[in-house]
Amino acid sequence: MKLDDKLFLVRFNTDKLSHIKINDPEVCLKQCQDKPCTRICPAHVYDWDEEEKRISVGYEGCLECGTCLIGCPFGNINWNYPRGGFGVSWKNG
Ligand code: SF4
Ligand code: SF4
Repeated sequence: MKLDDKLFLVRFNTDKLSHIKINDPEVCLKQCQDKPCTRICPAHVYDWDEEEKRISVGYEGCLECGTCLIGCPFGNINWNYPRGGFGVSWKNG
């Protein structure tokens, strides 16, 4: 089964509060040239907003895989599991 097909089976119970925060937006702007978070997240949660000059975080689609925590070279992502009852639920394993 392809990844896109698997993602189709994923269900979310979205919290109003984001479980992901950028610690220091200035680091993204001035120090992080490559912005790997915009490429490594399988759910495309992170996007560079050229107008606002900051990373936008679409936390609602987070798959809770933890990749961004390892992939941010500046440790600039404050990630916690969503509150109980919220977040992703997987079907068929
Ligand atoms: Fe900011 Fe980290 Fe993303 Fe770089 S990888 S843009 S420091 S959150
Ligand atoms: Fe994306 Fe995984 Fe980080 Fe969620 S935990 S934002 S899915 S890389």
